[in-house]
Amino acid sequence: MSTTKEIPYKIYLEENEMPKAWYNLRADMINKPAPLLNPGTLQPMKAEELAGVFCDELVKQELDNDTRFIEIPEEIRNFYKMYRPSPLVRAYCLEEKLQTPAKIYYKFEGNNTSGSHKLNSAIAQAYYAKKQGLKGVTTETGAGQWGTALSMACSYFDLDCKVFMVKVSYEQKPFRREVMRTYGASVTPSPSMETEVGKRINAAHPGTTGSLGCAISEAVEVATSTPGYRYVLGSVLNQVLLHQSVIGLETKAALDKYGIKADIVIGCAGGGSNLGGLIAPFMGEKIQKGTDYRIIAVEPASCPSFTRGVYAYDFCDTGMVCPLAKMYTLGSDFIPAPNHAGGLRYHGMSSTLSQLYADGLMEATTVKQTEVFEAAEQFARVEGILPAPESSHAIKVAIDEALKCKETGEEKTIVFGLTGTGYFDLVAYQKFHDNEMSDYIPTDEELAKFRANLPKID
Ligand SMILES: *Cc1c(COP(=O)(O)O)cnc(C)c1O
Repeated sequence: MSTTKEIPYKIYLEENEMPKAWYNLRADMINKPAPLLNPGTLQPMKAEELAGVFCDELVKQELDNDTRFIEIPEEIRNFYKMYRPSPLVRAYCLEEKLQTPAKIYYKFEGNNTSGSHKLNSAIAQAYYAKKQGLKGVTTETGAGQWGTALSMACSYFDLDCKVFMVKVSYEQKPFRREVMRTYGASVTPSPSMETEVGKRINAAHPGTTGSLGCAISEAVEVATSTPGYRYVLGSVLNQVLLHQSVIGLETKAALDKYGIKADIVIGCAGGGSNLGGLIAPFMGEKIQKGTDYRIIAVEPASCPSFTRGVYAYDFCDTGMVCPLAKMYTLGSDFIPAPNHAGGLRYHGMSSTLSQLYADGLMEATTVKQTEVFEAAEQFARVEGILPAPESSHAIKVAIDEALKCKETGEEKTIVFGLTGTGYFDLVAYQKFHDNEMSDYIPTDEELAKFRANLPKID
């Protein structure tokens, strides 16, 4: 008979147990992430230079490698209370289905209208923009999760929100576009003819359906050329990982409440924000005390930044208007194959996670999209939640690890991030069900072509 305490299906923190400060993992890193560089001078970006692009307080957070805890302002904590704490769910039904001795937990971030973890940072960024007295913010969005989250946050603080949406998504995913407009945002397909960089890209690539890197360039141009506006970004940046640390802090607190020690922590990685947030307190403990957490980043085989990219300074956007970041990258011109439906399509990776990976503190693995949708479906059928394709990358690897435990008989505790729901991704599910989904894995030659265009810096 088991002597362990009965673990509830869902572990919720009490309101007074919710984090009051974000955890800045950089403060505990021995090798700090490489600084952003000015693309003109190749010198580290100073706060004054970044201030034209980002809100002042966010610039401070971006450059702060030393302050371990940064207080979450009360206004943001109040907003968090509307949809947080998010549940840490014991996947009893999945364990049963897999017949594994492993214990599987997932932290579910899909319980808000935007349907993903992105709201955690959107509300923080909108708050600081408002506090600075700005009129509005600009941003890019691909599939639309970030744009949706930001629209919600901006309407809450009564800020103008201008979203450049990758043209192919704008045309093929009208539903998210309408959610954004419901919250008052203006949505422009990118590349547009409203910006210099958009005109340039349209002239160079007639008929292009756009990319994230290109939409970023447009959003930055509008922010820097319109008084009272700044640009905000939903992933990759240090500040975004900082805000997303609420995911990890809540997860760790919920596990600690029941005396559970995680063995493996798994998250999907696009630009690295949910993963960086989820792992933050675990990684911090691993660095400080040597606790043996296995931390695994999961990326699509069609966009393999960690596993097949290079660790180098690169542009964050196609128009090359943003600072250079040192990161695992496939090259800023890289765009995943058109059949790629599963998100996580950014060419680079958070510089914080890149440094941790370079230091051997975490692992990375790739999965093919058909396997991802198989895992998504398997999960939906037993656990009920219809997962986002992005999140399903983590599901796939959690299942694989649980099946390994079945072979070895080990009772490992696996924790993974279930970043969102997939209701707006049903076209991708449809392709999967109709056997129209294929797995495209770029060849070494293709990747070398994009790599050759990396800026030459060291
Ligand atoms: C944006 C998004 C991701 C990937 O972004 P990260 O910054 O790597 O976390 C993952 N899952 C969902 C549901 C998303 O919306």
